[in-house]
Amino acid sequence: MNNLDLDAALKGALQAIVGADHVNTDQAARAYYSEDLFFQGPAAAAVIAPGSREKLASCVAVITSHGFAVVPRGGGLSYTGGYVPQSENSILIDTRRLDEIVEINQDDLYVTAECGCTFAALHAALTPLGLRIESFGPASGRVSTVGGSLSQNSLFFGGSKKGSVADVLLSLEVVLASGEVINTGTGAIDGGTPFSRYFGPDMSGLFVGDGGAFGVKLTATFRLEHIPAGIAFGSFTFSEYESMIAAETEILRLGVASEILGLGPWSPKGGTPSAPPTLHAVTEGLDQAAADSKMAALRAIATRDGEEIEATIPAFIRANPFGFMQSLLDEEGRLQSWTHGIVPYSRAVETYRKVCGVLEAAAVQIEKLGIKASISALAVRNGFFVEPVLAWYDTPREIHLRGLGGDAPASRGDKANPEATKLIEKLREQFRDLYHELKATHFQIGKFYNHHDALDAGSSAFLSAIKKTLDPKGLMNPGALGL
Ligand SMILES: Cc1cc2nc3c(=O)[nH]c(=O)nc-3n(C[C@H](O)[C@H](O)[C@H](O)COP(=O)(O)OP(=O)(O)OC[C@H]3O[C@@H](n4cnc5c(N)ncnc54)[C@H](O)[C@@H]3O)c2cc1C
Repeated sequence: MNNLDLDAALKGALQAIVGADHVNTDQAARAYYSEDLFFQGPAAAAVIAPGSREKLASCVAVITSHGFAVVPRGGGLSYTGGYVPQSENSILIDTRRLDEIVEINQDDLYVTAECGCTFAALHAALTPLGLRIESFGPASGRVSTVGGSLSQNSLFFGGSKKGSVADVLLSLEVVLASGEVINTGTGAIDGGTPFSRYFGPDMSGLFVGDGGAFGVKLTATFRLEHIPAGIAFGSFTFSEYESMIAAETEILRLGVASEILGLGPWSPKGGTPSAPPTLHAVTEGLDQAAADSKMAALRAIATRDGEEIEATIPAFIRANPFGFMQSLLDEEGRLQSWTHGIVPYSRAVETYRKVCGVLEAAAVQIEKLGIKASISALAVRNGFFVEPVLAWYDTPREIHLRGLGGDAPASRGDKANPEATKLIEKLREQFRDLYHELKATHFQIGKFYNHHDALDAGSSAFLSAIKKTLDPKGLMNPGALGL
């Protein structure tokens, strides 16, 4: 489709709402915004960037009344096809101009922000007040937005203790496919304030982790906490990955760590990594003694099979939250692919072994094509997250380079290697199918992981009925959640 194909009446209506400068029908721009870090699909007919919530809501009404699909996009740092349009008859909504922090309420301990606001911006505004969101964002928070992260249940900072950003959500303002704007939590009370998530059924819960299938989030209100004065860091090395997982799950059950992250070494040969894995943890407390006492409990578990090493990694990450984005391309210019599954603690080792099995079965090809493999293991509040990471040379696309926000590595030459990319695609599908078998869950379901197919018949029909009610014509990010 070229821009002449965009319904002239629709284009005119959108321009009248958001201004001609914010309706982009340039072919290169449409292609750029319509592909994610892994998936490419048909380019949307236009990319629009509304400057206010009211304008965004009016655009949604106009787009769906013309029979076009609405596809919301935040920072664009996902890689499961979540904002990749399924058809050219789509309008992609770039939400990043909605970046206002609407209210910081220090008495009632909540913050309301527009959904294009990044977690880095929120953190920068809250830190001088000694406050933070209880689970304060994904590692990609320099670019990733409130709306995109809530739509994927994202998690990193504080996540091992408090869960995902969705777990600390109170209220939402959402525009439905019809253009109607609704509120959730106590924000839904006529004349009320968004101080609490619960008043009757949990309507906020319906819109988190939905990949934008149910509506476009306009604002979100999160619970705040005072930044604890005490913080301690610990790092440990293990001779066996499985004993690291055992320590990690035991620490998680004890509930003492704010973040606990297991990092596998890179295996240049593709199979089970041979170098020792490392575990990195952060504990926090009202004062230093409280943080140290939690770290002492954590250390007692970790040093049963592991050995303590200098805690430079967790200290660095906390000193530069939202600073490390280099893994979009590694230091030598390789692309990276991540495919995670979240399982109950009791199935962490089994999942790790099966992921290793997939890598080992492809080890010869992996080595031949120069692919590096590693496995990360993150303790999340309600489960254990296993993520094989693959790094390979191929030509970086615009999205890989622009997403770096200034951290592009020196070596980013054209290293076309379609055979390696094909193998990565196949491995990703094998991991996905394995997770499906293991009844795992996922943060970013997008249009890649199984969701609808994973549910039992009654639950699946219930979800379809909700979708039908909220979006009768199926025009709200079609394909997200498999709907
Ligand atoms: C280097 C790197 C580090 C990462 N670190 C983490 C991490 O620590 N933890 C983690 O969980 N993930 C991580 N991610 C994955 C990803 O960045 C996060 O899931 C992030 O929260 C996505 O936010 P975004 O604004 O980039 O969303 P996008 O990629 O723009 O969109 C994600 C999904 O949300 C939908 N969407 C976007 N905005 C809205 C809206 N306003 N309303 C409704 N739907 C919307 C989109 O349609 C899409 O389906 C990382 C990714 C990279 C590349």
